[in-house]
Amino acid sequence: MMQSFNRTTITSCLTVLILLLCTFSTANDLKEVVVLNSYHYGFKWTADINEAISEQFRQDESTRLFYEFMDSKRFHSDEYFQTLFEQYRLKYKNHKVDGVICSDNRAFDFFSEHGKEIWGNVPAIFCGVNDIGEQLDRVDSTRQAIVHEIIDVKGTIDLIELLQPELEEIIVISDKTLSGNIFLNQFIEAFDSKHRNYTYRIINNTKPDLLKKALNKIPSSNRAIYLLSLYTEHNGIPNEMVLESQYFFNELNIPLYSNWDFLMPDLIVGGKILKAADQGQLSAILMQQLLNNETIPTHNYPEDQIIIDEITLLKNQLSEEYLPDNILLINEDNHFIERHKKELTIILIILIIFIFIILLLVSDIIKRKSVEISFIDSEKRLELAISGANEGLWDIDLEKKTFFINEQYAKLLEYKTASEFRFNLSNWQEFVFSQDIEQIKEAYNIHRDGIAEVFQCEARLIKKDGSLSWFSIHGKITERINGKPIRITGIILNINNQKAFEKELQNAKEKAEESDRLKSSFLANMSHEIRTPMNAILGFTDLLIYGQLSGIEQNEYLNMIKRSGENLLTLINDIIDISKIESGELKISADKININELIKEVHIVGLSLCSSLNKPVDVRINPLANSSAEILTDPLRVYQILLNLVSNAIKFTNKGFVEIDYSIINDNELKLSVKDSGPGISDEDQKVIFERFRQVDESTIKKHGGTGLGLSITKSLVELMNGNITLISKPRKGSQFIVKLPVKTISSIPTN
Ligand code: ADP
Repeated sequence: MMQSFNRTTITSCLTVLILLLCTFSTANDLKEVVVLNSYHYGFKWTADINEAISEQFRQDESTRLFYEFMDSKRFHSDEYFQTLFEQYRLKYKNHKVDGVICSDNRAFDFFSEHGKEIWGNVPAIFCGVNDIGEQLDRVDSTRQAIVHEIIDVKGTIDLIELLQPELEEIIVISDKTLSGNIFLNQFIEAFDSKHRNYTYRIINNTKPDLLKKALNKIPSSNRAIYLLSLYTEHNGIPNEMVLESQYFFNELNIPLYSNWDFLMPDLIVGGKILKAADQGQLSAILMQQLLNNETIPTHNYPEDQIIIDEITLLKNQLSEEYLPDNILLINEDNHFIERHKKELTIILIILIIFIFIILLLVSDIIKRKSVEISFIDSEKRLELAISGANEGLWDIDLEKKTFFINEQYAKLLEYKTASEFRFNLSNWQEFVFSQDIEQIKEAYNIHRDGIAEVFQCEARLIKKDGSLSWFSIHGKITERINGKPIRITGIILNINNQKAFEKELQNAKEKAEESDRLKSSFLANMSHEIRTPMNAILGFTDLLIYGQLSGIEQNEYLNMIKRSGENLLTLINDIIDISKIESGELKISADKININELIKEVHIVGLSLCSSLNKPVDVRINPLANSSAEILTDPLRVYQILLNLVSNAIKFTNKGFVEIDYSIINDNELKLSVKDSGPGISDEDQKVIFERFRQVDESTIKKHGGTGLGLSITKSLVELMNGNITLISKPRKGSQFIVKLPVKTISSIPTN
């Protein structure tokens, strides 16, 4: 039991001991470092150093940092520093620290004087020191080291020369601070180290308003400003250099150079830049090494680098082509979008609105265009259809009193173009045949009053050459206001051919009717003509058979029967001739005849006819001089032609003469003439007497008989023989029928 107690107690004691040892060793390993800043909290340079230090220690959980800000830029009386010393001594009296990092000269001075008393003989790093001078012997190189803050003035001057080859002057700006003085001396030394083609001027320790004035007076061309230090006082306290610089140089048009990274971006073009962060980071690394008991160099120099702000460079119209290699280019121009985000957004919005409006307009235009195209298409189609149909289009605005016609309309009236056609609402009647004006007006009134659905009429329009042409006019009132016609549109269609055809039809109809009438009359005549001789033949035959007649009477009756038979034969011959002519069976022969003899025969028949009709008419003949006028022709047809004419002449002439005249012209033409002193034939009748069944006056049929076929047959025969027949006659002045037939005289026929 005792044993077990002892074992348990020992185990517990060991565990507690191990835990205590662990706790003790952790507490023992924790390092505490004070960062003593010369300046105040928020001072840009100091802030960057502190940021870099804390960043370096961030991974190191065994180190705790204490930040102290002496605020010596703004407060620097001995009394103040004495108070600070007492405050820190009191603060750290019972608190041992493992190291101190002093940032900037003032902290270094303070630490050299009071550090030991406040924190003991602790390791220390002096960051950002640029004026070590005789105080170097106060640095314990075994446990302390310096991070120098040395700006490369010469390197910056070289850069200015590179970027501005035409440089005439450098304006150097500095102030009365310790660093300012040091930097100014560095500049003068560097400038004087070699011959330069330009000058410099120093503006040092100037009051703000005077500095502003001085800067405004500097000409901007071929100048450069080298800003070393600028802490001008306001109410006894200096402002931050970065704020001052913005105030003094932002508006200025002269390239500005410096060595301080906090002036970047957007203020200085560039320079050999010293970064506070590099100072802070190197100091922290060195402190870590000291805490690890490593040996470190006493003097340390963080690297500087040429840094160029591209946008500021371009803003100052400096060329990038002179930039040296191995530089760091910041604020590159692609930040343009970032910097001008606002303006770009506005421009973008305007552009979008603009594009939207353009799209709207374009779509509207496209819509309108397509409507226009389809309208033009349909108009073209209509125009084509109308012109294809040979129709002219017209459109009247009754309000504006305008009259539109298309080209086809003008062409239909034989005008070259529509503009040539001076037609309007007040002179339209001048272009319409006077007899047709009323019917146009009437057709319009009927349509206007709603009686007819369309305006439609036929009228003769006057063409350009003054001739008339028939047109069918169609239209419709297409717009009305309060019932009053405003617009009427329509077409005109040339119907000349139709009208001519209609006329032909009418003529043919009339002719057919006339022919029908003539045929009826012919049949009536025919039956009369047949019945008359037939009655005579039968009547006289009866008398001869049954009558007791004297020898003279018998003889007379027999003659009557003979004449009637002959008449009947003539009639039958006429009908046969007509049917032969009609069927083309009548052939013309060519026989040798003596024309004198043929004429004589006809003369004898004429004389006997005359005496049988008992007419006091002198039937005479003018014989040819050449009594043996032998010609080649169809004797039968010449005989028939001449006898027809002589018979007619005797038939219609009651007194006076019938003269037969004939001659042979040029050995190739036989001219026959039958002239009488009969009643003559009017001009109107002359046009028709050669047609079949035509007789001038039906009373003549009763008086003289006849079928109305004689002249028609005569004309057909003459034409079959390639000749022609003409008539010279006037009422009461007799008639002369002249027949010309092509013949051959025997003397003209070559003998073999
Ligand atoms: P027809 O003698 O059988 O009546 P024709 O054809 O020979 O028929 O003549 C037609 C018509 O022409 C006659 O009916 C007559 O009216 C007229 N005519 C013909 N010859 C003469 C003439 N020499 N003088 C007057 N009228 C004539």
